[in-house]
Amino acid sequence: MIGAGLAGSAYALHAARHGLNVELLSLAAPLVANSDWAQGGIIYDTSTDSAALAKDILEASDQTANPAAVDQLVREGHGAVKELLLDELQVGFDRTDTGALDFTREGGHSARRIIHAKDATGHAILGAVAPKVDATPRITRRSGWVAIDLLTLSHNSDDPADKYQPLTCFGAYVLDTVTGVISAIIAKKTILATGGLGGIFLHTTNQPGSIGHGVAMAYRVGARLVDLEYVQFHPTVFAKKNAPRFLITEALRGEGAVLVNARGERFMDAADPRGSLAPRDVVTRAIKHELASSGEPCVFLDLSALTPDFIRERFPSIHERCLAHGVDITREPIPVVPAAHYACGGVHTDLKGRTSVRHLNAIGETACTGLHGANRLASTSLLECLTGAKFTAQADIADIARGGFRQPTPRPWESPVREADLNLVRQDMLQVQTTMWN
Ligand SMILES: Cc1cc2nc3c(=O)[nH]c(=O)nc-3n(C[C@H](O)[C@H](O)[C@H](O)COP(=O)(O)OP(=O)(O)OC[C@H]3O[C@@H](n4cnc5c(N)ncnc54)[C@H](O)[C@@H]3O)c2cc1C
Repeated sequence: MIGAGLAGSAYALHAARHGLNVELLSLAAPLVANSDWAQGGIIYDTSTDSAALAKDILEASDQTANPAAVDQLVREGHGAVKELLLDELQVGFDRTDTGALDFTREGGHSARRIIHAKDATGHAILGAVAPKVDATPRITRRSGWVAIDLLTLSHNSDDPADKYQPLTCFGAYVLDTVTGVISAIIAKKTILATGGLGGIFLHTTNQPGSIGHGVAMAYRVGARLVDLEYVQFHPTVFAKKNAPRFLITEALRGEGAVLVNARGERFMDAADPRGSLAPRDVVTRAIKHELASSGEPCVFLDLSALTPDFIRERFPSIHERCLAHGVDITREPIPVVPAAHYACGGVHTDLKGRTSVRHLNAIGETACTGLHGANRLASTSLLECLTGAKFTAQADIADIARGGFRQPTPRPWESPVREADLNLVRQDMLQVQTTMWN
């Protein structure tokens, strides 16, 4: 399993409980993942009208999403959240005075159907999932182990005749960043759960390291990629000079905050009937248009409809973080700009995580079932991690029980003759980021 965010961790739990041994790799410590940074929440649709959720997902995607993937999420998502997060891990989602789950709303949603843990939902979820993973026999966590290339029968087998086999993956070359040693991990199933690629843009909401490792490795072995041009830009990222960029959750707008320009005008009302709660692509385009025509460096999120007590209680992390950079959001608007946020495309898979390469799967943000089409509806991705992990694990468990895996000895990794010049690598990266941003 390459990646220990919510998708990789949830898969590991399913697979290990059914007797499979899982090597769970990550770039860094267990909680260093975009899953940990999710703010707004996760859909938990308890309504009997699941068609309304499907309609919202399709509408946000501009009718480009894959209806079969939407149908799977809408049918199965509720059970996946209930089983793992509510019943088993009892994640501390916010509740009302009566003890019922507190539902919030975000852009593009026609109903309040998102559960959350204040404004740090991802941390509450991964913070509960990671210890469970560590306590589960058969999962070996390997933090700081970076997959660098996939092993295929065509490229890495010691038997030349394997070149004529169908394209088949049997593991990965992995760098142990502590020892600097690169070794091959051989696996019956190799799963890419490496998250997003926001880091290839100059401005992003993503964790460092989210630069599409999984997509690149899949591309190098010839897997089918799809919809890579569909990158979602989050409309509201903190934008103060000399301060870091960080996400300002859409749930603020769900609770009544509105976007205004430097003159205090609500420009979203003219752009879309849903105003500040239009889907992200619509809001981002409107902000870009506003900035281009005004020449201002940012727009503002006006929170004057929310009381200071509510802001401090419901959005404590954002309140503190903005305050640390000189903006008291109980008294003044938040300066914001859009930034690269979510890869709607990725490694193409069916609804059981299977890519076009045999025994290579992909789940979570790295994968693309077509669920999001051209634009993701808010709070669908954590849910997709859970459903994708569950269905992929179930398919792999059945497949592995059938047997018939060929696992040759891979050729040893061949290091490049010369050390890479890190300055040149950084310069190239900056050029990629600037080009992508433009
Ligand atoms: C700031 C922010 C807020 C968000 N808010 C929400 C929200 O409220 N609701 C929602 O549904 N979604 C939200 N999202 C999106 C959501 O968090 C992500 O899409 C989702 O968490 C992705 O999960 P994942 O398991 O696929 O990847 P990640 O959680 O990103 O995990 C990727 C894992 O892969 C590992 N990895 C990467 N490359 C390698 C490699 N080469 N070798 C080994 N390991 C590797 C990383 O170390 C990490 O463990 C938000 C995203 C961000 C950035």
